Amino acid sequence: MNYKQMANEFQTPLYIYDFDAIKSRYNALKSEFSARKSLICYAVKANSNLSVLKLLASLGAGFDCVSIGEVRRALLAGANPYHVIFSGVGKTDAEIKEAIEKGILFLNVESFGEVERTEAIAKALGTKARISVRVNPNVDAKTHPYISTGLAKNKFGVSIDEAKRIYIFAKKSEFLEPVGIHFHIGSQLLDTSPVVEAASIVAKLLRELKALDVDIKFFDIGGGVGVRYEKSENEPSLYDYAQGVLATLSGQDVTVVCEPGRFVVANAGELLVSVVGEKQNGTKRFVITDGAMNDLIRPSLYEAFHEVVAVEKDGETSVCDVVGPICESGDFLAKDVALPNLKSGDLLVVKSAGAYGFAMSSNYNTRGRAAEVAVEDGKTRLIRRRETFEDVVALEREFV
Ligand SMILES: *Cc1c(COP(=O)(O)O)cnc(C)c1O
Repeated sequence: MNYKQMANEFQTPLYIYDFDAIKSRYNALKSEFSARKSLICYAVKANSNLSVLKLLASLGAGFDCVSIGEVRRALLAGANPYHVIFSGVGKTDAEIKEAIEKGILFLNVESFGEVERTEAIAKALGTKARISVRVNPNVDAKTHPYISTGLAKNKFGVSIDEAKRIYIFAKKSEFLEPVGIHFHIGSQLLDTSPVVEAASIVAKLLRELKALDVDIKFFDIGGGVGVRYEKSENEPSLYDYAQGVLATLSGQDVTVVCEPGRFVVANAGELLVSVVGEKQNGTKRFVITDGAMNDLIRPSLYEAFHEVVAVEKDGETSVCDVVGPICESGDFLAKDVALPNLKSGDLLVVKSAGAYGFAMSSNYNTRGRAAEVAVEDGKTRLIRRRETFEDVVALEREFV
């Protein structure tokens, strides 16, 4: 990549996505499930840029959405409604209604109350809503507590017994069609054996439901496949992941649905920032950049590690923290990293920033959100322009 040219053309902070890398990640996962009918539903929340979604739709991907806004985004990007699923613990009536009207593949319901509301809404629309139930298999995904979702103490999903009650209720209803079963136990799993463990628990329920004549067609294993952020980390084997899941489904005629977010985009993205200056507080060295926690909150929120490298800068290195200009001590992009001496205008690349980077960005401190560019076939193009001050104040202006 020619970072200097990109910084000149598009300014910094700048998100850069390698579309060829996104394609190859999607294809790698898809091919692991080729022995079966499968649908890879990209988790929109990881990176919801319309051009990213359009690229994935062109490859045949489906989309896992967690708000009606994401459903609209996926459809706007050209998704086939029958490849869109809607998950989430707090869907409102209006969201459920619109999702049913748009004819999506299914809604993943997360409580008895939600299935009752969904039925009432489908009835009012005079139609049948396709649903799936999110089961909480009570399996420890062994990941960061904020991104662990498959334990009974987490807010997500319902117990096996509650799931059965929901399926029996749905089967009896004229306005519901239970077509799927779903679980998602956590994110950034470098060991996918907990997913296989969950699959075997949920596959047992699937067999019981089939015996009760509930015709489940989709077995949705959620997302969570981890990626390498640190050199010491190893990505899980996709072969073991897929084969482990498929082995739990022997004799069952179901389409496997998988909802990867991070896996598809994390390592296809980088955040390019410019150094504003250096500062020494006692023995502590700080490199201050124009990128901050409002652009990339993962380090502040989860103490997540992102590799940071200097562009075209050699020489002796020393340890420093890479921080932004925001008025929070939690505003850092990296801690205790070795970098050469830097001066104003030098460029740094924050690696592995394609997932939960821009998507979690904000206007905190009245900072406009960064621009985003795609690199595809050796060409770079803008896919979201930088927010201006006028953009940031646009919704308040008329009231003063
Ligand atoms: C967030 C989420 C995903 C994607 O998780 P990744 O770790 O990015 O793969 C998939 N399914 C559901 C229901 C989610 O909430």
